[in-house]
Parts: sequence; C-alpha cells; structure tokens
Amino acid sequence: MNRKSFLKKFGTGAVALTTLQALPFQTAKAFQGQKWTSKNYAWVSNHNGTDDELRARLELMKNAGLDGILPSGNYEKWIRLSEEFELDVHAWFVTLQRGGDQWLIENHPEWFMVNRNGESSVTNPAYVDYYKWLCPTRPEAQEYILGKLDEILKLSEIKSVHLDYIRYPDVILPIQLQPGYGIVQDKEYPEYDYCFCDACRSKYEKLYGEDPMDLENPTEHETFSQFRYNQVTHLVNKIAMKVHDHGVKLTAAVFPTPDIARSLVRQNWPDWNLDAVFPMQYNHFYHKPVEWIGHAAAEARKELPATTEMYSGLFVPEMTPVEVSQAYEFAMENGANGICIFSDHSMTQEHWDFLSRVLLKG
Ligand SMILES: [Zn+2]
Repeated sequence: MNRKSFLKKFGTGAVALTTLQALPFQTAKAFQGQKWTSKNYAWVSNHNGTDDELRARLELMKNAGLDGILPSGNYEKWIRLSEEFELDVHAWFVTLQRGGDQWLIENHPEWFMVNRNGESSVTNPAYVDYYKWLCPTRPEAQEYILGKLDEILKLSEIKSVHLDYIRYPDVILPIQLQPGYGIVQDKEYPEYDYCFCDACRSKYEKLYGEDPMDLENPTEHETFSQFRYNQVTHLVNKIAMKVHDHGVKLTAAVFPTPDIARSLVRQNWPDWNLDAVFPMQYNHFYHKPVEWIGHAAAEARKELPATTEMYSGLFVPEMTPVEVSQAYEFAMENGANGICIFSDHSMTQEHWDFLSRVLLKG
C-alpha cells in the first residue's frame, strides 16, 4: 500500500501518523521512502555577493525543492531576486537581543534587562559583548519593537514576520556551547539569570506582593517562572495582533522543545499566537544523535495546537549530508510540516544532493 492509498484508507495525515506509530517495525519500515507533503525553508544570514551570485544560491535552493527563504536583512533585495525563482520570503527579525542597536543602547539603557546581581545587560553582558537584551515588560519597549515592525510590514510581499531572539538570555547554555566560554553551568547562576530590572520587580511585586530579588529560591519558584514566560508571551501576542492586521503571518525561531525552551531561556512558545514555529532542533548542541530530532518534533507537536505548523530547524555545519536527509524523515514522521536549514550557505553540493533526494522523490 503506498502512502496515497494508505491515507485514503485511514483518513487524514494526523490519523495516519498515529496508526503508523502503532504498526510493527517491519510494516512501518515499508512506509519509508514515501513522499511527504511538506514545505521547506532556509535561514539566510549571508548577504554577500552580486545579484548573479545570490541568484545562483536561490537556484540551488529551488532545485533542491525548497519553498522559501528567511533572510536576516536586505529584505527588498531578496524579495526581488526570489520572485524570479518563485520562492517565498519571510522576514527574519532579531527581536529582544539588541546588542547592535546603538541608538537604543545610548538613549534608553534603562529599558534593558538586569540580572539577579543587579547588573544591566548593557554594562555587563553575559557570554558575549552583544548580549544586550531589551526587557519585554516595559510598555515603551513593547512600542519600540512594534514600531520596528512597521518597516517590515511596508513590504507587502513578505509572507511572515519571523521572530528570533524572542526570549531571555540563556540562564544555562546548551551543553555543547559551555566549554567554548570556559564555564560549567550545573545550576542557575545569578549573573545569567534575568530579568530583575525595576519594571519587572515592581510589576511582580504589585501582582504577588513580593520583590523577586527577595525570593528565597527564585530558580524553582513557579509563580516567578510563569511571570517571566508571560512577559515574552504577552509581547508575542501583541505583535501577532499587529502582524495579522496587516494580513501577514507570524512565525518564530525557538528553542528545540517546549521543556528545553522554558528551562534554558524562559520561552513558553506553545502559548504563543503563531502561525508556524521553527524549533531549532540542533541535536549536536545537546549532545544528541540525529534521531533525537524526531523525539524533539514529537514533543513539540504534543503541546502545539494542531493548526500551528512546525518546521524543524537543522544546524547544517555539524551534520553530514546523509544526516540532513535522515533528519527530514525523522521530523516528518513525528508531526513536522517540513524543515528549515541553517543555513543555505553551509550546504555543500553533497548536502543538497541528499536533501533533494528526500524532498523531490515520489
Ligand atoms: Zn525587566
């Protein structure tokens, strides 16, 4: 039975998936090689080159079976060139990490996040100099971000506003990244724990009658955790209203599973009003094999509304060509709507060959 007749017999994709998981291994194996209905994307962070050089990259992506790109800037140029290849463009927007925003740093340093030692992320950034984070709690800061989106929303061809760095700084870094900074994060340390700015402290105190600085065990305090999730969720849902009013979709790059996102960066993304979510299921960051991408996708799918699309983000620089194609199948078998590669620039010809085999077969 091929996928088509299988679906005819068992109904929708969701039902088919559940049924498939219950099948004995050999039978399940027979479904390997099926063609999934998916949409697939690439984050584009490298904007260098002539128009013809960029066209060559877009052509590679189109020929491999990708449906669109998520550039981190130069939106108008990418829209113009992508139209030639019928590729969609989603505007990748760095939201709360504003280390490159000199105007904001100079004019409103008080809007930035503060750690549990009382140090501002402007003067004492964690890990790297650009880790200067706008606090989502202040209404003025929310207005500032909403204003930034006006520039993107003028571009009517944009398919979605794609939020990135929409979270707190990492209170704990993914395990693979810790040695690079010469640190061991066996628990939450105050210098990486945000936000204890005046706006957050007084808002929390007004709501719950105590200053979060005085909490005995802030790292395991459920109300305070929920408060922090809510600050980001509130901003995302405000952004969603604005973006949707313009007839544009809202998507976001997030940490790989809801549990990891909540514990490492206070990001409770299943609660967000998104059209699609792009969890960065970078298995090597967590010392996991490629199969883990399937588990991560399944965990994400469990908490997401059925109407929210999910695209598994793959970190290509650490993946072999065959792993990229395996990752696609693990993601699809576990409820993803496709994948998103980081980034097109890291793909070798062999990576493209393996990926196109799974995307274009059928
Ligand atoms: Zn704050």
